[in-house]
This record gives sequence, structure tokens and C-alpha cells, in this order.
Amino acid sequence: MEKVLLMRPSQIRWENERKRLAPPLGLLYIAGILKERYEVFLLDVPLEGYDVEAATSKQGLYRFGLDEEEIKRRIVEISPDVVGIECNFTYCWGETLRLAQIVKEINREIVTVIGGHHTMGMSKELTQSSAINYVVEGEGEAKILRLLDWIFHHSFASEDLFRLPVEPALDLLEAELYKPEMSSHINPQGKHFVYLSSRGCPINCKFCTTSNYFGSKLRLLPIGLVERQIEKIKKLGFEEIVFEDDNSLFMPRDYRKEYFSIPKNLGLTAFDDGGLYFSKTKERDVELLAECGVYGTFLPVESPSIKTMHRQNKYWELTEGEQVSKLKEVANWLTKAKIVFYCAIMIGFPGEGKKELRKANDYARFLKELGAVAVFFHWTHPYPGTELFRDTYSLIPSNRRFEKYPEFWNFNKPVLPLRDISFEEAEAYIENSFVEINGPGVSRNPGFDIKRRVIY
Ligand code: SF4
Repeated sequence: MEKVLLMRPSQIRWENERKRLAPPLGLLYIAGILKERYEVFLLDVPLEGYDVEAATSKQGLYRFGLDEEEIKRRIVEISPDVVGIECNFTYCWGETLRLAQIVKEINREIVTVIGGHHTMGMSKELTQSSAINYVVEGEGEAKILRLLDWIFHHSFASEDLFRLPVEPALDLLEAELYKPEMSSHINPQGKHFVYLSSRGCPINCKFCTTSNYFGSKLRLLPIGLVERQIEKIKKLGFEEIVFEDDNSLFMPRDYRKEYFSIPKNLGLTAFDDGGLYFSKTKERDVELLAECGVYGTFLPVESPSIKTMHRQNKYWELTEGEQVSKLKEVANWLTKAKIVFYCAIMIGFPGEGKKELRKANDYARFLKELGAVAVFFHWTHPYPGTELFRDTYSLIPSNRRFEKYPEFWNFNKPVLPLRDISFEEAEAYIENSFVEINGPGVSRNPGFDIKRRVIY
């Protein structure tokens, strides 16, 4: 039986970012389908090397994960025929490529396959590197199985395999290594597992990869299967389920009720980090969350300008100005139901400048007054696989393009040119606003206090 090694590359972070890290659910699903026909291993470089930090050549940027010597030793020990590397985040593209190069330095015969959100529409560019043999674009389970069957057996797996709901290979997870401080949401109440039972989104926002990656139709795992999976997750020692479904409001109400109740029924806590699509939220949706025992949620309010959101194909049900009264309504319902919430505002859309940044600052203060426990600012990025990428990537200056400067492609850094303010000034303005609005006790990303690292 051929050996397949699935890997998550080391991660980079800016000094003022949280060291968030969730279980690699995508890789576990890939492992779940491959293990029917291949011997599958998982090497989670940033998890196993969570405390191994190293400075990079760039001021304020560090890397964490197993060091290269240990990575090489582990690959040699497993001696895989195939290495599959996850690249879900554009800012980790450099780490992904380096990992593929390490594999090829060990043995050029090992087949390398890259998958994840960053690869959407990028196969041609990514396979320019001699370290990458194949790119799997979009949902990977069926594609990678077919690819490997074709490479090793010149045949394809039976279609029946794809009709079954795939189960993530939770047995490969090194559950004991996860810690609450790896959370990307506010105040986790214990060791948490980031879970989702849905794929696809009918909204098709221009800045988001989801509809392109998973399709525009919302698909749901059968509730019985979800229950069994969450039971297994509990047995692994996790204490909280963080729901990451982007659009739970679009799930049928009965399904949503059963789904969100599972953690409470199993004695676990639950946080809805996929969040509420606020413009469509009704009071009974908030009451349902409370009834199911969900203690917190995310309100991704995005731009203060509804016209900007319309240009991104979002919030068509609201006209300019209506979002203020709608947000007041939703915030009141959440407060009444004793559900904590945090918000995020998207800034730096094409053509924005000082005026829009000031408006974002005012909007954040307004959200804080409504009761948000924290308000974050997310710089807009035209990620590969989005319509925004096709429309605006050419506007990005060469010193912010992801091919050479992927570290600028996280929420903390602007990349799209601003009308009348430099990147540095804009970043400083937003950093100050963030601290003024939230106080010094909240980190730049949702979570705990900033831990300043002395690397240099
Ligand atoms: S941002 Fe949310 S609503 Fe828009 S396409 Fe992505 S998942 Fe759907």
C-alpha cells in the first residue's frame, strides 16, 4: 500500500498577532477518504512545534513550527510516496513552498500535491515551481483520491465512495497538544474544536473564496453523523465546540436547532464563530442560539458603507443607513438573550482613503457602545479564487504581492492602495483606533492579551 503523508506547514505571525491554530479539519477529511486505499500519516508542523519560534529576516515577523531538521527526520522516517500540503492561507504560501522544497531535497521521486483555498485558480502559477507536482483546486476529497488512483493504479475509485458522507480521520489528531489560547475567538471556555457541518454559500461575495471553492449550494452533513463526530471530539478531550459554519442562518431551522444543541446535550460549551448574517437575523434566530446553549457569536458587520457592500454583492436587503437600526435591533436581542458578541469591520476596499478609515473608526465606537465585547478591523485582500482578485490584483504594488511578500496577506496588513494615505500611516491609525476602542487588554486578533515576544 502506498504511503501518503499529509502536512500543515509552519505558520508565520506578526508580533502583535495571536498564535491562533485550529485542528486541520480539511486534512482530516482528506485522510478520511484516502485511508480506504492508502496508508495515511499526518504531520502537523505548527502544532507539534507550537513553542518553537524563530525570527525571520523581516522585522516584527516570526515563524513557529518544527524546525527543518526535525521535519526532514520525520519525512525520512515515514518515507512517503506522496506528500500532500495544505495551503489554506495566502500569508503562509512561502511556508508551503518551502515545505515542498524540503520534500524534494529529501527525494525528488516523492509526489507533492498542494491544496487549499490559496490554490483556487492558481494551478498554472503554483506548478511553475519544480517542487510542486500537482495542485488540487477546490474541495479536495474526491479529486485527490482520483489523482492518486490515476498515478499509482491507472484506475479510478468507484463512484460509490463519493456518495458516502466522508468522515474526518479524527484518530490522526494529536488532541492532547491543543490549548485554549490557540483560539481565534474571544475568551474560549476550554479546549476547543473548530467544527462545521456545512459547505457552500449562495451569497457569492466578491471578496470571499467560499462560493467558488465549495460551490453556491449549501450542503449539510446528516445530523446523526454530526452527533457521532462531536461525541468522538469530546472523547478526545475537547471541551468546547466552535461552530465555523459561514451561514448557519441559511440552514433549515429544525436542523440548526438540533445542530447547535449537540454540544449542550453532550456537556460541552458552544460558540458560534461563523457568526450571524446580521441583515437577515430575526429575534427568533437569537432566541434559538440561547435555547441551544450557545454563549457567544460573531457579527461580521463589514463596511460601514452599504454601497461598498453592494459592490461586493452583499447586503442587498439593506439600503444606506438602514444597517444602523438593524444592528441596534440585533445587538439588543443578543444582550437580552445574554449572548456575548464581537464584531469585525472590513477596511481598505479599492478606492478607500482617510475619510473611509475615519468612518470605520466611528462605526467601531458605535458597535462597542451597542455592547460588542471587542471590535476588530480586517484589511481587505483580493485573495486568489475571488472576483476581487480578478478585478484588483493588478493594482497591488510589487512590494505587497503575495508571490514574494505573503506576510502582508493577513487581516492585519493593507495591500490595496489607499487614495490619500500611505500603508504605514493607515496601519498606525487603525492600530491606535483599535487600542483606544478596545482597551489594551484585547489583542489585535480576537483572543487574549498581546504577548510581546522578544525575538530581535
Ligand atoms: S463572506 Fe460569508 S456570505 Fe459572503 S460568500 Fe463568503 S461565506 Fe458567503
